[in-house]
Amino acid sequence: MRFIYVCNECQSFIGEIELQNWDETMLGFDTLTQGEKQELVSIDPYRQTGVVKAICDYCFKEKSGLLRFYQEPERNILQ
Ligand SMILES: [Zn+2]
Repeated sequence: MRFIYVCNECQSFIGEIELQNWDETMLGFDTLTQGEKQELVSIDPYRQTGVVKAICDYCFKEKSGLLRFYQEPERNILQ
């Protein structure tokens, strides 16, 4: 099975891995709820391909930058 990781934010290709023997625990899927799994992982058994939605480095930095931006005013008030 080939797993393709795609960014959920910008839809860019992150990477892929090819696994012969795999289970959900190995890929961390067992920590997801059934709903999350349906949303984040789509497996195509005919093409032996699984698409996993993740977040790329760029969007991760964007998001954490945004978080700092929103936290800033609060910190200023406390000083
Ligand atoms: Zn991205």
